[in-house]
Amino acid sequence: MFIRRGKSLYAEGVAVSTLAENLGTPLYVYSESQLLKNYRAYETGFARLPHLVCFALKANSNLAVARTFAREGAGADIVSGGELYRALLAGFSPAKIVFSGVGKTREEMKFALNKGIYCFNVESVEELQALNQTAGNLKKKAPVALRVNPDVQADTHHHITTGTKENKFGIPKSQILDAYETARKLKNINLIGIQAHIGSQITSVAPFERFLNVMLDLVDQLSARGIYLDHLDMGGGLGITYHKETPPTPADLARAFEPRLKGRALKLLFEPGRFLVGNAGILVTQVLYRKRTGHKTFVVVDAGMNDLARPALYDAYHEIVPVSKNGSVRETVDVVGPVCESGDYFAKARHMPYPEQGDYLAIQSAGAYGFAMSSQYNSRPRAAEVMVSGKAWRVVRKRESLEDLIRGEK
Ligand SMILES: *Cc1c(COP(=O)(O)O)cnc(C)c1O
Repeated sequence: MFIRRGKSLYAEGVAVSTLAENLGTPLYVYSESQLLKNYRAYETGFARLPHLVCFALKANSNLAVARTFAREGAGADIVSGGELYRALLAGFSPAKIVFSGVGKTREEMKFALNKGIYCFNVESVEELQALNQTAGNLKKKAPVALRVNPDVQADTHHHITTGTKENKFGIPKSQILDAYETARKLKNINLIGIQAHIGSQITSVAPFERFLNVMLDLVDQLSARGIYLDHLDMGGGLGITYHKETPPTPADLARAFEPRLKGRALKLLFEPGRFLVGNAGILVTQVLYRKRTGHKTFVVVDAGMNDLARPALYDAYHEIVPVSKNGSVRETVDVVGPVCESGDYFAKARHMPYPEQGDYLAIQSAGAYGFAMSSQYNSRPRAAEVMVSGKAWRVVRKRESLEDLIRGEK
């Protein structure tokens, strides 16, 4: 939905330069049609299997983005009380909310129990006991899936794998059956599922197949013990194209899953984040200065690592394109931000059209873990966010002011 018409980059029916001129930069631009297209790819891909797609709010927790999915009937995957608050405001039905995370507080559990969420994804036996007590105090039963660490390699960046035995997530496969036995004895726990999430930005089907095999094996071992589950939650993790990756589609996954799930009464849950929002957002920034040091050429832009941390955090690649194609000279440059850190860059040694001072650049595939990970580091007010729908656009988060920087300080 971000396409070039002539020299100009468009977000659906709106010229990106118009948005930048009206709203200033740095600016996150989202395409509503792309959000819907991504969600519907899951819905149609898995149409033949009973399923629920729960948007992982942590990838992009803007209310308008979340509401787009809530309106389609999606569920939500949350990892904090704050995300529960957002999910409810965005209009998700509590009956479609799952609560993940290794460190839920009793306060957060209470909030979620009182709202009647669909499921807690519990990550340790101590957490299970805390949840049992908290539910008991409220005279409620907590619906639970235990999160297993399936020890499956996700073939992705080591900072974003979560399903190997090195990681803090979940209950080790070797202990999971005992954990279910413990859980079934707890009065205020209602066992309804099993969950795992093996990592993020996974770009082939194979890790998901290995993962499904491990999970179905566990489901069978549990039913042999008389523990029958309603659902199997396969987490998120489906990758997108940042550079030259060719990730599978949800339909590709479904094709691999269908034969293995035949004849089972299990409902599948998914918790996609990046896949739903990643390619539906760009970060627009303006070139402030260029400088040649003799060794390198730097393009200094007005967005920084506080706006988009992925390159600094994961050495992530983001395509950078001119918003308006002017000259045709190409150069090898580093695109860097104004923050006082060497890690504050968006591209290194990138061969790209050499921009003029004042040109706008679009950093692509920035819809996931972009604004959501932003900070005010260096006392930089956070960027504005705008949603485009056809020829219409609306600001869905206004640019922060200087007063916003000091709110609550004394
Ligand atoms: C981060 C996370 C997700 C979403 O991951 P994506 O790679 O963005 O799809 C889903 N579930 C859990 C438990 C997570 O931690």
